[in-house]
Amino acid sequence: MTAIRHDWTREEVMQTYSQPLMDLLFQAASIHRAYHDPNTVQVSTLISIKTGGCPEDCGYCPQAARYHTDIDGNELMSVSQVKAQALRAKASGSSRVCMGAAWRNVKDGPDFDQVLEMVRTINKLDMEVCCTLGMLTENQASRLAEAGLYAYNHNLDTSEDYYKDVISTRAFEDRLETIGNVRKTNVTVCSGGIIGMGEQLEDRAGMLVALSTLDPQPESVPINALVAVPGTPMEDIEPVSIWDMVRMVATTRIVMPKTQVRLSAGRTEMSREGQAMCFFAGANSIFAGDKLLTTPNPDVNEDMDMFELLGLKPQAPFVKKAKPETVEAEDSTLQPLGEKPRWSRPGHVIERNEAARRERSS
Ligand code: SF4
Repeated sequence: MTAIRHDWTREEVMQTYSQPLMDLLFQAASIHRAYHDPNTVQVSTLISIKTGGCPEDCGYCPQAARYHTDIDGNELMSVSQVKAQALRAKASGSSRVCMGAAWRNVKDGPDFDQVLEMVRTINKLDMEVCCTLGMLTENQASRLAEAGLYAYNHNLDTSEDYYKDVISTRAFEDRLETIGNVRKTNVTVCSGGIIGMGEQLEDRAGMLVALSTLDPQPESVPINALVAVPGTPMEDIEPVSIWDMVRMVATTRIVMPKTQVRLSAGRTEMSREGQAMCFFAGANSIFAGDKLLTTPNPDVNEDMDMFELLGLKPQAPFVKKAKPETVEAEDSTLQPLGEKPRWSRPGHVIERNEAARRERSS
């Protein structure tokens, strides 16, 4: 088996990414087979438990309150609604549920208590539970762990350099701080990014260096292709080519051999042949369901047809790590501390984001 390296340089990652495609695929597929069952792919379901109205200004995101998009916002879903969706997901082959809330950060109080109850409920369904709720403190991460959370998602999105062209309301190091808080618990880390936002190869490599030099490396890395949503600052960006996606997946697999590499947003633009090449290159998870938070995604039946065609099996839950225990709310030893995560407000101006905001108010 290839040793796990935490000293990848940007130049090495760029060379890996840019080598002849057949060499890249062979290298990635060989590493993939050494660490994973190549015919098994995890099916995950994303549930948007609280949609829209987010105060952040991520340039790709239709849920940012400041942009004019067609998103129907909703308040936090009830535990029973989430349980019903999770049961449907399980019946159609999902082994993992990721709950996303369009929050800047977690705030202690009734809404977070309700999310903790959702975590307990889904863990008891024998599904891996992941949450993506924005920035959080160590105490909040510990409370999620106690409820039975399996993974916390907090994407780096892109390189530290290009981050400044995408988001102005927080900084790259804030992301690392939240990931660090998750790492202090037994919750696994899910962190990846988006390609096709106008970044350079250096930025794709820079993001992979930032992720692979974490020790331990994230257990899960989603690779998204930008879905350019009308009304967002990135609405006019052309879709990224399948070849870029295949190269990004393969390079991610090479620099992070043990990680679950997730083919995430942008799959509707990909042919089955393109997706098959991504699986060969080391992708071993997809998101199922006709929506990915707010953007379109292939129908679950289409995915199951594709699995049959390719001879793929859905991955069972808790293959990579044992199921966490759930501590009931009344038995919890952890109190909310009412702390806010620390974050910097860089306050620089991103002209593209400002133009989209002005458009909304005109
Ligand atoms: S990506 Fe998340 S933090 Fe950024 S605007 Fe969208 S919901 Fe808010």
